[in-house]
Amino acid sequence: MISIGILDLQGDISEHFEAVKKALKKLDIKSDILRVKTVSDLSKCDGLIISGGESTVIGKLMDKTDMKLAIIDQNIPVMGTCAGLVLLATETDYKQPLLGLIDMKVKRNGFGRQKASFEEEIEIFGSKYRGVFIRAPYVEELKDGIVLAKLRDKIVALASGKHIATAFHPELTNDTKIHEYFIKEVLKCVE
Ligand code: GLN
Repeated sequence: MISIGILDLQGDISEHFEAVKKALKKLDIKSDILRVKTVSDLSKCDGLIISGGESTVIGKLMDKTDMKLAIIDQNIPVMGTCAGLVLLATETDYKQPLLGLIDMKVKRNGFGRQKASFEEEIEIFGSKYRGVFIRAPYVEELKDGIVLAKLRDKIVALASGKHIATAFHPELTNDTKIHEYFIKEVLKCVE
């Protein structure tokens, strides 16, 4: 039995919880789903999801709770969505605490602040997918990893080693294939 954690410092946690539950059922895999508030919660996890929210806020809270170093040390697969993608990066266009687990440069609010949210069709894992973008970042430069999806020529989903990151919110669509991909990655790492 594995344990998937969802970082619960700030942001949209419950939708990820439901999406993981649904993906596990589809894959017929048993796993605990944990809300990770402390380093001790994290120590029980085989994989971690970092949700959307405000990456500056989540980053500062991570620093305060020693979560940042603990995540880096634990060396488990991490899935970052939206603000989570920003936090996985080595570099952004703001000054903020980052995990630096994926060697990439990210542009925050890359699709503009005004037109804050939109839905648009992208293609990922060989099929069409409805991406929900909310003040989404994009990846300006991916130095180590593979591009999984682009929107308007910008990288909006990628994998790097055991980590995966999306600029959009997979927890807000019914299609669970991105969560399924992550769960399979976690399984590979515990085997
Ligand atoms: N713009 C936010 C940030 O950079 C991300 C928004 C989101 O997670 N929906 O932190």
